[in-house]
Amino acid sequence: MGREHIGAKVARINQDSCVKCGICYERCPYESIYIDNEVNYVVNELTCEGCNVCGLVCPVPGTITLELVRSEVIREATTKYGFPLISAQVDVGRPESGKLVTEEKEWARKNNERRRSRPHDR
Ligand code: SF4
Ligand code: SF4
Repeated sequence: MGREHIGAKVARINQDSCVKCGICYERCPYESIYIDNEVNYVVNELTCEGCNVCGLVCPVPGTITLELVRSEVIREATTKYGFPLISAQVDVGRPESGKLVTEEKEWARKNNERRRSRPHDR
């Protein structure tokens, strides 16, 4: 059983409307925009912080959009000894690891309370 979190945002550039002015590249505070081999301006999704500076400075409205992406997943499994194991994984380059740990602990706490209310499960 698992629960995915779609919480992080990353910028995407529409190559059809981009006029290749380079302003987004110059202004990105995280240096997350690069120029590929075909001279397209492209967002590095692993380092993009979703701050939307690029979207604000782009002269062509709608060319840069922020899209929600998966940031992390929490899973529950049962070990071969019969007790539950709660684990969490942050996707590469995604923020919010502290929030994830808090949520994982909360999941484990609720799981423990459920088991305590059903003594035969222990
Ligand atoms: S959203 Fe922010 S970090 Fe991401 S590419 Fe745009 S300016 Fe850079
Ligand atoms: S600012 Fe907009 S138009 Fe200019 S390169 Fe970036 S995405 Fe293209």
